[in-house]
Amino acid sequence: MTDVPKTLRQVGGGAYAYVQHDGSWGWSNSGLVVEGEHALVVDTLFDLRLTRELLDAYRRVLPAGAAITTLVNTHANGDHTFGNQLFDGAQIVASRATAAEMTEVPPALLAALMRQAPQMGLLGEFLDRIFGPFEFEGIELAMPTETFDGELTLRAGSKDVRLVEVGPAHTRGDTIVVVPADRVVYTADILFVGGHPIMWEGPVENWVRALDLVLALDVDTVVPGHGPVTDKSAVTALRDYFTYLDREARTRFDAGMSVMDAALDIPLVDFARWGEAERMAASVQTLYRWYSGGERASAPEVLGGMAEWGRQRRSGAASGRDEEAGR
Ligand SMILES: [Zn+2]
Repeated sequence: MTDVPKTLRQVGGGAYAYVQHDGSWGWSNSGLVVEGEHALVVDTLFDLRLTRELLDAYRRVLPAGAAITTLVNTHANGDHTFGNQLFDGAQIVASRATAAEMTEVPPALLAALMRQAPQMGLLGEFLDRIFGPFEFEGIELAMPTETFDGELTLRAGSKDVRLVEVGPAHTRGDTIVVVPADRVVYTADILFVGGHPIMWEGPVENWVRALDLVLALDVDTVVPGHGPVTDKSAVTALRDYFTYLDREARTRFDAGMSVMDAALDIPLVDFARWGEAERMAASVQTLYRWYSGGERASAPEVLGGMAEWGRQRRSGAASGRDEEAGR
């Protein structure tokens, strides 16, 4: 399963996008910005084997004598950070909120969950489906060596690389990476292409604001956190998605409907073509939390909600309800 397609594509003068598979669960993207002797990498991958493949691909395009001196982690999720330890000698930069969040779901926790999965019933089956292709044993998470709040401009050679913190939205500390000279933005998980986004943190207003900020950038190429390289049309589509989801969820919240009932009841409309529809359960849960001022759910609770959403959706489909369309 790790032998899925991966592509490295030049998206600007010295800017590259590494895209894995179809961008579904765990199949994240990475970026490389190089000029002269200095190269900067945006995000690592979910395990060491995948990140070694990534490094091999990057080394093939690095000019002779160039070295990766900086690694940026756009947010705390493991599919963007668990390969950090392979970037020996590079400074690791992340927002302060991201660095703080990185300690909360360490590789050892995911490794333990996966070992327990066979005894965990529905949640275990779900975990096996979404995280089964990855290997979390033996990863030592390398933490950021520099943190920032708000904005920070780094350099790759003489080229500016702007880090703009737009979170909390997907997670607590999302950062986008803009390379003005190459007219490229690496949005990380502020943009998913081909799949439903997952709003772990919110509020949705911040996510919409982040998308507006991307739309206002003077760039041509948009590298999402998951899915193929795109342009601003995908940013507009995701903005429409959140406007729709927020409106539909709010109506159901006001009517006293439970999170699960609301997430099952909201029609997928045009978004039925997108994969990972179970993430609606997680995003609606986060929307409800902001509506009610309630507590944040734990990662296993959120994952359990998505597993349950999938189960009910399947049994509903079996008894004649509309089945979600495939990708
Ligand atoms: Zn991701």
